[in-house]
Amino acid sequence: AFDGIQTLAWMRDFTQSVYATEAELTALDQRAGDGDFGANLAAGVRASGLRCDRMEGPTGPAETLGAMADAFLDEIGGTSGPLFGLLFQALSRAAAGSGPDLTTASLAEGAARGLAAIRRVGDASPGDKTLVDALAPAAAALLATKDSPPAEALAGAAEAAWEGVRDTASLTARMGRASYLGQRATGIPDPGAVGVALLFASAGGTVD
Ligand code: ADP
Ligand code: MG
Ligand code: MG
Repeated sequence: AFDGIQTLAWMRDFTQSVYATEAELTALDQRAGDGDFGANLAAGVRASGLRCDRMEGPTGPAETLGAMADAFLDEIGGTSGPLFGLLFQALSRAAAGSGPDLTTASLAEGAARGLAAIRRVGDASPGDKTLVDALAPAAAALLATKDSPPAEALAGAAEAAWEGVRDTASLTARMGRASYLGQRATGIPDPGAVGVALLFASAGGTVD
């Protein structure tokens, strides 16, 4: 089952892939933003790791995802910090409502609610060249594979997210700092979308 241990492993894999990609994310945000996205996301997983290490008592999926949410919401700046925080918060709340193990249904619900919260706060639509362009297809993929085991569904979500990332390269940003660059950022994939794809792709190493 996709239990608390698996969830921690998923978040550790995500942390490692953020560190491994930090320079690349920085380079993307230098070309399509202000260059701090790699540092913001790395600070987020670092603060999350510290909170996870300090957790006491039962650490099921909801607690781990909740610690991620609190770290990103309370400690990380930029536009992406609070937005990733909202995604983790929605995933945590959905996990809390679905028993001790993470289910594909709760992941689908969490991703959908996280997407809705991010769109409410950030006001971005699909096609605006933001992380919404990776999260929306990932959430749809999870919903479409509700009967698959979580690890399998998350792998499908990652695939959908990467397709969304690829599509952002040809888009012109309408939100955030990238929008100041206009056509100059065309051809560059959106860094925030890459971050979302990394999150779903990081569950691939965990088995359920
Ligand atoms: P900042 O733009 O404040 O420096 P970051 O560099 O931390 O923030 O994050 C940039 C990412 O945030 C972008 O690549 C994009 O995916 C995402 N983003 C920016 N504005 C929005 C928005 N209004 N809605 C959703 N995502 C957004
Ligand atoms: Mg930035
Ligand atoms: Mg910034």
